[in-house]
Amino acid sequence: VDEKYKGLESNIWIELNTLNDDLGNCVNLGQGFPDYQPALHIVEHLAAVCKPDPELYAFHQYARAFGHPRLAKALATLYTRLVGVQIDWASEVLVTGGAYGALFYTIMSNIGKGDEVIIVEPYFDCYEPMVLLAGGTPVYIPLKPDENSGDSTSSAQWKLDMKELSSLFNAKTKAIILNTPNNPLGKVFSREELTDIARLCMKHDVLVISDEVYEWIVYGEEEHIRIASLPGMWERTVTIGSAGKTFSLTGWKLGWAYGPASLMRNLQIAHQNCTYMCQTPEQEAVGAALENELELLGKPTSYFHQMRKELTLKREQLSKAISDAGMTPILPQGGYFILAKWTSLKKKIGKELESQGEKLKAWPYEDMKFAIWLAKNKQLLGIPPSAFYSLPHKHLGGDYIRFNFFKRKETLEKADNILRALK
Ligand code: PMP
Ligand code: GLN
Repeated sequence: VDEKYKGLESNIWIELNTLNDDLGNCVNLGQGFPDYQPALHIVEHLAAVCKPDPELYAFHQYARAFGHPRLAKALATLYTRLVGVQIDWASEVLVTGGAYGALFYTIMSNIGKGDEVIIVEPYFDCYEPMVLLAGGTPVYIPLKPDENSGDSTSSAQWKLDMKELSSLFNAKTKAIILNTPNNPLGKVFSREELTDIARLCMKHDVLVISDEVYEWIVYGEEEHIRIASLPGMWERTVTIGSAGKTFSLTGWKLGWAYGPASLMRNLQIAHQNCTYMCQTPEQEAVGAALENELELLGKPTSYFHQMRKELTLKREQLSKAISDAGMTPILPQGGYFILAKWTSLKKKIGKELESQGEKLKAWPYEDMKFAIWLAKNKQLLGIPPSAFYSLPHKHLGGDYIRFNFFKRKETLEKADNILRALK
């Protein structure tokens, strides 16, 4: 491979989706997507604008480069309300090819050689290669279970050491990448935590790249706080969202970034020379769906409310199955993944795990061995969290496996049966 790609050859989604395809019979709790129909009214809207009708020709042609107005306007209205800043739909919102696209533009257009970027671990895996490709240097800080509470079974107990974080900021620090609710841990950063981080960013004049793709998926009394809404933070934050996660249609690959025009201009330039614009019919359907949600915000009839309610039950179902299997779940405050500590099974299956070793030269971590063993021998697919840690910290993921619980009841029951039989 080209010099610039050396060290980036391996990608967990490619590895495990290929394994899944090869095996062909796994219950798939791996990559994060639901295994059933998304919100029906969006699919209907897409079908309505795509039906063969000469009057609808424009929906099959290029849209405005930075976002189809119906969608960009709906996003600006929504976030104006949620962030508390008047957002201009034309210059402060950019529609992209998924949240991946938004992350790529933000990182490519703001990070350069010699810039340091602080990344909170565990992190969504693409942050690291994007920062490296931009010429930047990632600097990592792991969330750790709070020693005072002695409890690591809720994502709320996993915290940043603020002294350690503070020590990472220096004259080279250009940005920090945050992800709340976090994938894979499910941590939802509290207002206090975000305020502390914001203070450091203002003090050191640092950009915040805030990945909030799971913004609508928080449980119980949890509240999703947008760091851009904290005093002084709008000016220095690019926030990233995903239609795939917002309306459960990950295959549509539509996302967005929003922030002050001064920061968004760089992203627009990256975008206008890369993909130029995104799918028109999808933007129309997501725009209409957001208009609908805007009217229903906070009401039980809203899709966001229904999704949360549905996922609350699924979170319970899977965490119970994990506990019943003798493993320990970390109950997530948000998102749709659970980390399960699987090491209680080590005594029983330790020898079998070792035999998974020979094919794993590129990925010699305990959790990868376990994930492969589980897929091959028990037909259950999960994701090894070492993928969400930097090289020196990969062992921190070794005791866990990540399961996605956005699955129909029958899929979770099948997983439940496999898990129980492990005990
Ligand atoms: N960020 C996080 C935290 C994710 O989990 C994902 C996966 N959906 C993405 C970004 C990428 O989202 P998209 O599928 O919209 O590109
Ligand atoms: N965000 C999803 C996950 O974490 C999908 C990742 C991907 O497709 N690369 O599972």
